Amino acid sequence: MRDTMKEVIERIIKFRDDRDWKQFQTLDNLAKSISIESAELLENFQWDTENINLKNVEEELADVLIYSYLMAITMDVDVKEIMLKKIEKNEKKISC
Ligand SMILES: [Mg+2]
Repeated sequence: MRDTMKEVIERIIKFRDDRDWKQFQTLDNLAKSISIESAELLENFQWDTENINLKNVEEELADVLIYSYLMAITMDVDVKEIMLKKIEKNEKKISC
């Protein structure tokens, strides 16, 4: 994943470092940010589910993914590796 997402990861890190925000991006703050952005994503579906603004959905989904990547970068874990491990775990406990 680091290879295919290399450009994105570099841009995320550059954005963070240009603003000297690494000091604020502790694991708890990143977890809070993922949750906050998830709520913003969900807000798109509040009350009216017939006129969904897909552009907003796309932007909030991007925010969730960016913070998720930032958390993985901060933890120094490989996103592909941890996702495949979790999928494998889910496949073992969820049978159709
Ligand atoms: Mg947002």
